[in-house]
Amino acid sequence: MGKFKEHVIQPILDCWSLIVGLKITGKYFCKPLITVHYPRQVIDDENLSTYGGHVELIGKPKDPAMPKCISCMMCVTNCPSNCLKLVKQKAPKPTPEQEAAMKAAKEAGEKVVKPKAPKNPLKFTYDYTLCSLCGTCIDNCPVKSLRYSNNMYWVATSREEMNIDLLARLKEQATEVSAPAPAPKAEAKPSAEKEA
Ligand code: SF4
Ligand code: SF4
Repeated sequence: MGKFKEHVIQPILDCWSLIVGLKITGKYFCKPLITVHYPRQVIDDENLSTYGGHVELIGKPKDPAMPKCISCMMCVTNCPSNCLKLVKQKAPKPTPEQEAAMKAAKEAGEKVVKPKAPKNPLKFTYDYTLCSLCGTCIDNCPVKSLRYSNNMYWVATSREEMNIDLLARLKEQATEVSAPAPAPKAEAKPSAEKEA
């Protein structure tokens, strides 16, 4: 019985396993490709919209280089991985006119109005090496100033590079968006492939 199983049953089972594997390979061999040959091809923008990369800032609609962030510290204090660091701006020194107005208000017993610190952050950094992409910072931002980046081609060659200056990145993005589009070439190539 042992030899019958070894020389008859087992080869049949092995052949059946091979047939099942070839059937699956054949099925996907005939389907259209869903992968791209990077860097000769890149993912189209529609599919990139659902990609969740590192966290980044969102700029104001009228001033894309200025973050919507109001330095409330909600994201910093709620991040479970302690990967966000924010430094608030300090209030500017009062001008001579403001100092005179403050002095007059104080002498008159009125409320002294001091210059206020700008709400946008002075520094805002994010350590991608620690981030678990949990989304807590994005979900809890009261002014919707954070999002996941859809730049899936971002790479770094050191840990230091993965500690991202979010304000500098936002400025870079605003510059890229406002830069004039390259002039169209005289003769367009018939190929639909995008250059990386
Ligand atoms: S996604 Fe989560 S871990 Fe990453 S920065 Fe935001 S709160 Fe922190
Ligand atoms: S939660 Fe939003 S507004 Fe508050 S510090 Fe973070 S990014 Fe800025």
